[in-house]
Amino acid sequence: MDRLTTNFAGTLFGLHGEPAHERIVVASDADSGLQAVVAVYSTVRGPAFGGCRYWQYASDYEAYHDALRLSQGMAFKNALAGLPFGGGKAVILKRPEQMDRAALFKAFGRLVESLGGMYLTAEDVGTTADDMRAVQSETAYVSGIPRENDVYGGNPSPRTAYGVFVGLKAAVQVALGRDTLDGISVAVQGLGSVGWDLCERLHRAGAELIVSDIDAAKTERAQQMFGARVADIARIASVNADVFAPCALGGSITDAVAHCQFKVIAGAANNQLMSLAEGDTLHRRGIFYAPDFLVNAGGIISCAREYLGSADKQAVLDEVAQIGPRVFELAGRVKVSGIAPARAAVVWAREMMQRV
Ligand code: NAD
Repeated sequence: MDRLTTNFAGTLFGLHGEPAHERIVVASDADSGLQAVVAVYSTVRGPAFGGCRYWQYASDYEAYHDALRLSQGMAFKNALAGLPFGGGKAVILKRPEQMDRAALFKAFGRLVESLGGMYLTAEDVGTTADDMRAVQSETAYVSGIPRENDVYGGNPSPRTAYGVFVGLKAAVQVALGRDTLDGISVAVQGLGSVGWDLCERLHRAGAELIVSDIDAAKTERAQQMFGARVADIARIASVNADVFAPCALGGSITDAVAHCQFKVIAGAANNQLMSLAEGDTLHRRGIFYAPDFLVNAGGIISCAREYLGSADKQAVLDEVAQIGPRVFELAGRVKVSGIAPARAAVVWAREMMQRV
């Protein structure tokens, strides 16, 4: 029980101080070794849609808590994006021992199927399009599957990166009054699928890049291709730059980071803020924070349209581009309410969660 109370900021039913989750399923499969948590925060707008993370956690409670936080974030994200979906997320616990990956994801597919469509899955950190194919062999409640002559399906990362780029540009306009990124310095944390694509777009737009990644090969490549400066992973959040774009894992905006020198924070990583208090600190210090669940919705928009079969490539890109106007609307709400963007976005998302 000690570990539960010290490591886990919630109850069995949800996050502390927040409405309880609709459903939380903890499941295991002895044959494949699957151990997973599926958290469904809300289905008010429709089935809970959110990716599946495959990650090695320090403890089972940490995995459980991550699933709860991520699923709430998906509910906010889907609502603000105007999608007809609620929010959910799955976490598969990665073990150090070698596992039969296809068997693992097939077992996960059976778990998703057993929920009867209440939860729809897709890729997230640690999972691939091939994993989703294995899931698809057991359930139709999955998206992000590459197809031949694919126009908008498959790996959603490029659409996520496009949305983050559009959101970051709008945030720069809000905070700095500049409608171009030419000469703007951006510190990018994490050069994975989204971070790398974002760097390409920023470089093309004339931004100066400072990058960090635990993988030195990626930062070296960024140095060569974009003339990026490389920062130590422990220092990227305190470098001198106009914009900070967290594109690695969550929790990168700690209290110390909230005292940084950036003017804007906008990036892809889910759950960037340790808590809303850090968002308040950023606001007090005049740093415009574009919430993760607002600007990183491109991927879920892509997966949702793929799942619904309701849009072509251009229509998906047009829908993702709406992230820009939403950042301006958030800035307007912040001005009227006086509360920090992080809180204003939560209020807005909760309003949207009542509307279908
Ligand atoms: P990814 O796994 O491809 O990339 C993550 C990168 O971060 C890797 O290059 C990794 O080496 C690096 N990294 C890990 N720890 C680091 C650290 N401490 N400092 C610097 N770099 C570090 O993941 P991704 O698909 O690019 O997603 C990035 C983030 O965006 C994740 O938080 C994910 O949940 C979020 N996100 C992704 C999508 C999507 O479509 N891929 C959609 C919405 C949100």
